[in-house]
Amino acid sequence: SYRDDLCYLAFAMPVMFTLFGNHPWLPTMNALAGTSRNFRLASRLLGLDSKLEKSLLIPFREIKVECTIPKDDGTLVSYVGFRIQHDNARGPMKGGIRYHPEVNSFFFISSVDPDEVNALAQLMTWKTAVADIPYGGAKGGIGCSPRDLSKSELERLTRVFTQKIHDLIGIHTDVPAPDMGTNAQTMAWILDEYSKFHGHSPAVVTGKPIDLGGSLGREAATGRGVVYATEALLAEYWKAVKGLTFIIQGFGNVGSWVARLIHERGGKVIAVSDVTGAVKNQNGIDIPQLLKHKEATGSLTGFSGGDSLDPSELLVHECDVLVPCALGGVLNRENAAHVKAKFIIEAANHPTDPEADEILSKKGVIILPDIYANAGGVTVSYFEKLPRTVLRERLDHPIPAGENNSNIQGFMWDEDKVNKELKRYMTQAFHNIKTMCQTHHCNLRMGAFTLGVNRVARATLLRGWEA
Ligand code: GLU
Repeated sequence: SYRDDLCYLAFAMPVMFTLFGNHPWLPTMNALAGTSRNFRLASRLLGLDSKLEKSLLIPFREIKVECTIPKDDGTLVSYVGFRIQHDNARGPMKGGIRYHPEVNSFFFISSVDPDEVNALAQLMTWKTAVADIPYGGAKGGIGCSPRDLSKSELERLTRVFTQKIHDLIGIHTDVPAPDMGTNAQTMAWILDEYSKFHGHSPAVVTGKPIDLGGSLGREAATGRGVVYATEALLAEYWKAVKGLTFIIQGFGNVGSWVARLIHERGGKVIAVSDVTGAVKNQNGIDIPQLLKHKEATGSLTGFSGGDSLDPSELLVHECDVLVPCALGGVLNRENAAHVKAKFIIEAANHPTDPEADEILSKKGVIILPDIYANAGGVTVSYFEKLPRTVLRERLDHPIPAGENNSNIQGFMWDEDKVNKELKRYMTQAFHNIKTMCQTHHCNLRMGAFTLGVNRVARATLLRGWEA
């Protein structure tokens, strides 16, 4: 289907759009076709050779495994897990593992859409390059509903998945991290299971609990990075977070941190949504109160500090800045023309499909692209796994030879240092994107794609292909 998408992309889409325009009955591009399209546009701007282009697009390795576990009641249930390793020219492949019921349920087997994971793996390759951290890209997932599984079922599923892929991940190969539906505890189980085969290996995953060598500030890092990125963008327009109105779609790890930090900076969060519903308050929602309400009830509904809102209304509600923090494809040809925000910050991965991208650009909406905006998480993952030499300044004894790539435990940066470094990386990346925009006369998405793709292309060419 990967090849079908490319053929569809190359031939069918231009013809259909020329003939019919954006008609609602035309099929939409899936995530992989959309991501590959952005890559190709960037590759053309950079003038890459078509053979190199092809090699950069095809994933390094795709892993699909069956994971069968006994449920707590003794019945067996099977899931399909994926790890798609896209590229390693710039370093070990890196990216999250997602547990999400975005599934093709067939004969009681739930499976993640491999094209979706493929797109997300590819986005990681460009993202780590945009952030200028020495990693490639990968992504994994299991098609399951983590909310419907008990803690021990989740642990069994994670351990079985790790048993199936342990030979193909590793400190120098591919380093997983949390993503939607997974967290520090999931990483602890992977670490433990992996270590049974390979010896104690804390650096095989990032986003670990602090007690197992995780980094301070990692949990907030994606959201914090989104806010630093937003500040860098707004500064270009002589604006600041304070006084602007924000709408945040998604109130999980990323969305709740974005909301909290925007609120702390004096930004007015006027609407928020998650899977349970949406809430709005034109005078600004009291985010600490909303966080308390969500913690107590598990839901956004019934919050006394605002009115409820239809979640589909939220994306097209009047505001200055719209921040999608949940799933991909939420901005599409159905709603793009009705979006009223002046800025869109892509905290989610590929929230804007290519058709919406075109519609929004024509309307003059400024979009800060995902491969930059949400790079804060993987950047702090890099700090978590930093080679000892980089942290030498904090050590009061020499570093044993050959230990350069393991997690350094007990000598980690304090949270202020993590946040300061994160801001430095995010600000630098923004300036590098702007330079690419000027060089190639393109928008921020293409600025980010040309920056990332160019770095990966250069690394690939330097390494060469000779056997
Ligand atoms: N899952 C996060 C992302 O999509 C973080 C990945 C990582 O830290 O490796 O960027």
